[in-house]
Amino acid sequence: MEVEKAKRLFGTNGVRGIVNRELTPKLVLELSQAIGTFFGRSKILLGRDGRASSRMFSEIAASGLVAAGCDVYDAGMAPTPAIQYLTRKGGFDGAIIITASHNPPEYNGLKVIDRDGIEISSDKELEIEAIYFSGEHRLAEWRGLGERFPLGEWLEDYREAIKSKVDQTAIRNCKPRIVVDSANGVGSLVTPYLARELGCQVLTLNSNIDGTFPGRLPEPTPENLGYLCEIVRASRADLGVAHDGDADRAIFVDETGQVHWGDRSFALITEHFLKGNPGHEIVTPVSSSQIIEDVASKYEGKVYWTPVGSPYVSRAMATRDSKLGGEENGGIFYGPHMPVRDGAMATALMLEIIAQSGERLSTLMESLPRYFNVKDKIPCPKDLRFKVLDLLMGEVESFRVETIDGLKVWHDDKSWILIRPSGTEPIYRLFAEAKSQEKAQELVSRYKAILGRLIGDSGE
Ligand code: MG
Repeated sequence: MEVEKAKRLFGTNGVRGIVNRELTPKLVLELSQAIGTFFGRSKILLGRDGRASSRMFSEIAASGLVAAGCDVYDAGMAPTPAIQYLTRKGGFDGAIIITASHNPPEYNGLKVIDRDGIEISSDKELEIEAIYFSGEHRLAEWRGLGERFPLGEWLEDYREAIKSKVDQTAIRNCKPRIVVDSANGVGSLVTPYLARELGCQVLTLNSNIDGTFPGRLPEPTPENLGYLCEIVRASRADLGVAHDGDADRAIFVDETGQVHWGDRSFALITEHFLKGNPGHEIVTPVSSSQIIEDVASKYEGKVYWTPVGSPYVSRAMATRDSKLGGEENGGIFYGPHMPVRDGAMATALMLEIIAQSGERLSTLMESLPRYFNVKDKIPCPKDLRFKVLDLLMGEVESFRVETIDGLKVWHDDKSWILIRPSGTEPIYRLFAEAKSQEKAQELVSRYKAILGRLIGDSGE
């Protein structure tokens, strides 16, 4: 795996690190100079999330880009998908977004966006890293420095783009009551306004931007959404939505206060989409539930499985011209809008589903097939992780094994286990799915034991 070895800055979604420890002002300056060198004399959009350190890093990145001769257009604070939308719509050559998405408050990072609005490919990441590590970034002559331009109000245009993709009349007639939990992040700049413009009754939670995330941690996991569930119930709302820190993800809560994990809401959106577009292809990572295939096959749809990570889904959708993608973590990629995950677009689609069906969200969710998942991990030295996976492949007895990302072993057509080495930690992640909790647990226990033995043998 040459790529694994050579990559040292970019992870699954850009460059991330703890502020002033891993992600230092010096690193951000030199990296943005390298990014500016890569794009050449160009128009770069610069945006940021609401983290405490985001303004500082945004100023530093702007200076690095200007020094490299790029013109910088300052989009200010906005959700990641809004900046991706503007990159393509505004004809920019690329964008830098200062964000650490769902990571804890002490983190920050950079995402680099290509002119099509999608995160740059891993080949381009390697090119930027090569410039960075060589130190040979371009420093423009004094008369060739870039300029900085502020942008006026532009989020309205982005909200209009989303609204134009859904049945506004149906939503307006239904007047759903929705509670929006923005995790004190930039989702609060879009989703509450969007919902209000669609005729919803909107209540907001954690919707003042605050980089210390006083309301809850920025990852919308069920354990972080207790207040949202309570408020949905207490206010008799039809729907609750929780974003991560940069609002490219959306996790939904039904009217009873029940959190539904991302692949179930994705299944509901898949069904809704395929009813109107039978036979279309759906794109999702190998870690997603079999529920997506169950729903797709009902409407002659096919599923295209990708490695884990939103850029893989986006790139596959763009090259295959697929119109819908999704991830189990609450990422919905709606192609008619753009092939990147977008929490506000996902919310608009969910409102459309509730409005058009006239059903409660809990009822809609109950109609879906039921699966059980178990997650676990096991330590493995980094230098052994691919060797052990090869050994494991030689041992498994299964009617189907997939190697799209890690090893996915099928035991029957409804139960499987995915074993992936983590990109950042010396561990394997195990993820099993089955029709019963016991079966999923049994798969995890069995493979954990096999992996433990193989790791022990290989280390001797
Ligand atoms: Mg995010």
